[in-house]
Amino acid sequence: MTLRSPQREPLPGLPPEVVVWEVGPRDGLQNEPGLVPTEAKRELVERLVAAGLPVVEVTSFVRPEWVPQLADAAEVLAGLHRRDGVRYPVLVPNERGLVRALDCGVRDVAVFASATESFARRNLNRGLDEQYAMLAPVVAASLAAGVGVRGYLSMCFGDPWEGHVPVDQVVRAVARLLELGCSEVSLGDTIGVGTPGHVRTLLGGLSAAGVDLDVVGVHFHDTYGQALANTLAALEAGVRTVDSSAGGLGGCPYAKSATGNLATEDLVWMLDGLGVRTGVDLERLVATSSWLAGVLGRPSPSRVVRALTG
Ligand code: MG
Repeated sequence: MTLRSPQREPLPGLPPEVVVWEVGPRDGLQNEPGLVPTEAKRELVERLVAAGLPVVEVTSFVRPEWVPQLADAAEVLAGLHRRDGVRYPVLVPNERGLVRALDCGVRDVAVFASATESFARRNLNRGLDEQYAMLAPVVAASLAAGVGVRGYLSMCFGDPWEGHVPVDQVVRAVARLLELGCSEVSLGDTIGVGTPGHVRTLLGGLSAAGVDLDVVGVHFHDTYGQALANTLAALEAGVRTVDSSAGGLGGCPYAKSATGNLATEDLVWMLDGLGVRTGVDLERLVATSSWLAGVLGRPSPSRVVRALTG
């Protein structure tokens, strides 16, 4: 017999409710080797919303030459049925991307920054100070348009070029993004190396610096199998927003460039067992990831999807 839901046994000290910030259509699909038809992308977003996800990051307005997988950003948004009360953020790399997003009626955007000099140079071709100088007008123009801005901060727990990343360096980077006007910051463990004590230390450092953890999200990758343990540590410390990717999208087990996004199903299974409300219907979500696996032509790397569809 396959158990289709966990036994509910709460732990003390957890929030009653968590916002699951679904990044699959953007962070997942941008890392997929193949191109997904525009119509399937729209269906994915609409099915995720129908499964109860309150925030679904739809796409990215980066230059199509860089991310051909998301070159149809405007087309995806144009035909999308948007529901009231649901947020549909998009990633914008610069002012030009922001203008294109606003033209599509976008009301939530996200910008990208690095906690380390090396990754800022490799990913943005800029040093740390130049990165903030580039983001400042994007954030200002978003706020002027009445649009909320999330800051993604990558390499918060380790960097493939610099190795370990000092906690105070990450705290300073978060403070810079909030000073620019970001409404929240998502802490990315881009290479998936963090462990629960590290999570607690970083969040403690942010609290000590006066950062309200209500404006902090966590974005864990399961590359080293630590994502759920790190999530639990973050929730115990007071975080209430967790990023994840439906079906573990973007974490293709057969691709060498596997990014290992935490799977939304694995997250929701744990939160359901803990009695933490998410509003997500796990069966509908699994059905969506199962359908998408058919579109992509390969099985989902999510443990829960595999267990419930095997
Ligand atoms: Mg990711």
